[in-house]
Amino acid sequence: MRKHPALLPSLLLLGSLALTTACSSASTGSSGSSGSATQDARAQGTASGSSAAVTGVDPSRIKGLDVVSDSSEHSACRYATSYPAVPGADAMTASMKKYVSGRLATFLGTGSGGQSTGECTDGSGAGSELNISYQFLVASGDVLGVRLSTLDRASVGDGLSTTTYWYDGAAGRARTALELIADDERTALVAAVEKQLKGREGIDASQLNSTFADKTGLADLLDDMEPTANGGLRIEFDRDTVGVPAAGRYVVSLPRATVTPLLSAFGRRVQRQTVSPGGTLDLGASSAPSAATPTQTASGTDTTDCKQVKCIALTFDDGPAAPETATLLEYLAQYKARVTFFTVGQNVAAHPELVRAEARAGHEVGNHSWNHPDLTKLTPDQIAYQLDRTSAAIKAATGTAPTLFRPPYGAVDAKVKSATTLSPVLWDVDTEDWKYRDSAKVANTVITKAARNSVVLMHDIHPTSVAAVPEILRTLTARGFHFVTVSHLRAAL
Ligand code: ZN
Repeated sequence: MRKHPALLPSLLLLGSLALTTACSSASTGSSGSSGSATQDARAQGTASGSSAAVTGVDPSRIKGLDVVSDSSEHSACRYATSYPAVPGADAMTASMKKYVSGRLATFLGTGSGGQSTGECTDGSGAGSELNISYQFLVASGDVLGVRLSTLDRASVGDGLSTTTYWYDGAAGRARTALELIADDERTALVAAVEKQLKGREGIDASQLNSTFADKTGLADLLDDMEPTANGGLRIEFDRDTVGVPAAGRYVVSLPRATVTPLLSAFGRRVQRQTVSPGGTLDLGASSAPSAATPTQTASGTDTTDCKQVKCIALTFDDGPAAPETATLLEYLAQYKARVTFFTVGQNVAAHPELVRAEARAGHEVGNHSWNHPDLTKLTPDQIAYQLDRTSAAIKAATGTAPTLFRPPYGAVDAKVKSATTLSPVLWDVDTEDWKYRDSAKVANTVITKAARNSVVLMHDIHPTSVAAVPEILRTLTARGFHFVTVSHLRAAL
């Protein structure tokens, strides 16, 4: 992909790409002269509402959805990646997995395509951050669309790149964004796009022609396209690919009348499912039984008196995850242990039933941001957006809004604190379980470092961390520890 040197610092908002959807849906379908309204909303983080409400995609209704997450919690090694694995769309999942693991391997300096070792090397120092998050665009009938948004603060330009991935259930194959367009209509599409881009600030018309003339690069250049709720087509360009806007990115919106004749048969099906979603997603996957949701209920308020007995607060970040969180809840119930979950908003949206089960079992549910960015790198509006959107998802799932948040990477400063009414929670025992995928080592770390009133950091997205919990509960219970939530512990101190 062609890149020009960056001229301006990024004004983009990590994790708020959903806002652009809100804007495009609210528009008339014709393009504005500069797309500045979209850019403003994203840069300022002021738009309200969620992508789910606008696109009509409720990820919790996608049967068997697995969100594949990987992250660090270390301030010197900041990465968080996630993408959805939808049953039946295996080829598309494989494509996203290949992309994500490649970016992560590059970030970690472990070469291409390798498994994450969770180790940061010299190439990924304190100044860098890799964040890959996802958003469902369409999940209806036999079509599925997902946008992956990558922010790499160490890369050139503003470091943000987005790609839409498509799956065609009828054909049983993954498709690129460009495949929304009929093969013999690509020239007409390019002409319509060029017409809209010309004259915008930062666009060099002569260079534009040569950029689009490279037919082999067209699929990369036009890798973020999505039909809109009013039947149009919205195209977004990574910064520095077709020009350098004064702020944000170039967005082209083609009205329905223009785009409909250009669509492929697949594109027309995506358009139809976007304008009037058919409800259920059916990609022809054999129906795998989804994991049962634990049904334990707390036996009243926790009366543990931490002034009289030894208390400890286990905390689990980055979830919920299926089936790991469900398994963890079973272990905790066996020991009547109460813990605190610091949940990531995009995972709450995918699995609200697990968050509901956490709360029902007497655990505390806290806020860990929408998609795990370093909050200290964001503006106050962006910080508020990350936390408010997540609190709303938690409240929708459990009926109760959280009072605590854990800043990703433990990165918190005065700006972050003043942007929210939530109380930050750090930790004093770090298992580094994101790095050491070794149950015995994780259990041993907690058992040897546990002290009265400790707050222990773990992650329930890793099977190895969940598998360490029975040994932790058994040993520490025998040593007289009581497992309580962070708020319970704080109330006693
Ligand atoms: Zn985390």
